[in-house]
Amino acid sequence: PARPIFAGQLPVGLQKISNIVAVSSCKGGVGKSTVAVNLAYTLAGMGARVGIFDADVYGPSLPTMVSPENRLLVMNPEKKTIIPTEYLGVKMVSFGFAGQGRAIMRGPMVSGVIDQLLTTTEWGELDYLVIDMPPGTGDIQLTLCQVVPLTAAVIVTTPQKLAFIDVAKGVRMFSKLKVPCIAVVENMCHFDADGKRYYPFGRGSGSQVVQQFGIPHLFDLPIRPTLSASGDSGMPEVVADPQGEVANTFQNLGVCV
Ligand code: ADP
Repeated sequence: PARPIFAGQLPVGLQKISNIVAVSSCKGGVGKSTVAVNLAYTLAGMGARVGIFDADVYGPSLPTMVSPENRLLVMNPEKKTIIPTEYLGVKMVSFGFAGQGRAIMRGPMVSGVIDQLLTTTEWGELDYLVIDMPPGTGDIQLTLCQVVPLTAAVIVTTPQKLAFIDVAKGVRMFSKLKVPCIAVVENMCHFDADGKRYYPFGRGSGSQVVQQFGIPHLFDLPIRPTLSASGDSGMPEVVADPQGEVANTFQNLGVCV
């Protein structure tokens, strides 16, 4: 998709990045970080140069979901820039790699931290920077979208009817900022047991969203113990099981972004 019109000056650290993709959700715990990390490794597996920026300052998940040898960000003292850490060929920055974080921060402070981490990082040349957005559609998210020229947004949700209202908010935020929402990922949509498929949270709200807002793609992710276990073990599922059903879904999502 074409880059949206971006009013501000592009921060130096972001100038060599071709595509910046936001992975967003309107609530916490729906699987946003799981999708961001697996999408990043899928794109890397397709041969792209990829970075992940974990903008979830209050609850950074990246340090649990990957296991880089170097778990602390390094500063370049002369240029005063941040050198991202790297794991299996993907560059990454997270507040969780910044040493002792503060548990309590007011909104403007959070925005400042995100801005600094994102724009003073030496990302180098990247085909994709995947941003794991903080959940919700408040000031922090808006500021982030204004600092960074997003190429596209992927919205992660769960199948409940309730989630529909929140997703609509997210889609509206991106549409106001002229960022195209290219896909909705409906996470935890079903599980298989005893040869049957169960839909514990109901069905149909994802397709309602894509129809109503004209979003081109909808992907379903099942509830899978391996997805949760791989998240906890620091080895993304698409890396651990590159031929599996989940990896296949992410391949399809990767082609869209
Ligand atoms: P968010 O970023 O939206 O807060 P996470 O990606 O951190 O959500 O996911 C929350 C928890 O749920 C994590 O422990 C993750 O491993 C688990 N999880 C996410 N999606 C699935 C799934 N489809 N099946 C099983 N566990 C999942």
